[in-house]
Amino acid sequence: MKKIIIAIDGYSSCGKSTMAKDLAKTIGYVYVDTGAMYRAVTLYALQNGMFKEDKVSGQSLINEPELKNAIHQGKIRITFKVNQTTGAPDTYLNGQLVESEIRQMEVSSRVSPIAALPFVRELLTEQQKAMGREKGIVMDGRDIGTAVFPEAELKIFVTASAKVRAQRRYDELLGKAKTREEAEVLNFDDILKNVEERDYIDTHRETAPLRQAEDALVLDNSNLTKEEQKEWLIKRYEESAR
Ligand code: C5P
Repeated sequence: MKKIIIAIDGYSSCGKSTMAKDLAKTIGYVYVDTGAMYRAVTLYALQNGMFKEDKVSGQSLINEPELKNAIHQGKIRITFKVNQTTGAPDTYLNGQLVESEIRQMEVSSRVSPIAALPFVRELLTEQQKAMGREKGIVMDGRDIGTAVFPEAELKIFVTASAKVRAQRRYDELLGKAKTREEAEVLNFDDILKNVEERDYIDTHRETAPLRQAEDALVLDNSNLTKEEQKEWLIKRYEESAR
């Protein structure tokens, strides 16, 4: 089998990361979660007071020049380190483990506008391309098959209905809640709204919008079990790497 690049793109919360992580582990490839990188940049902006609430719209607005400066001064360093317990890579922001912080709603509700900024995409796309130089990589995101690795040997576009995706996200967050309060603040409608908003922003932004690459294989997993999905993925990998 030759070493290839596997690009997995698709809508928010359709289980891309879980399937990509599992596939990488099974075939001995490196896994890169590019959503985690956009989330880490968003967390940096939050931690450094770069968001301001707009009094009229109630929206959280980013101070673009400040974020741009931080990026140009090399103040945002994102790295991954394999977690010995889970066997999957954890995300670090400037040396600090942020895997759990970047999954919170505070970050989820602000990440898509940050990911739409061309200077943010430029920085992260460059880093992602460098990670794939040796091939043997499974990378998931929104623009991997179209902008990061248009030459990838295997491209998969994952989709599922917004309701199915919101329910999965709700279950995941509920599973992660450490206290009763954390579980009680979770609201399905808020999560659904967030999923739909992110879909809209991701597909309508000017720079590298989410779209299916012409040569991508579509995987609608609304009604697939994890096992069926895995079997499908392994077959596609074997066909492409042969
Ligand atoms: O995959 P995940 O939902 O964690 O990604 C968080 C957000 O990062 C997405 O909603 C999208 O706005 C952005 N993203 C992106 N390009 C990627 C990966 C993620 O724009 N390659």
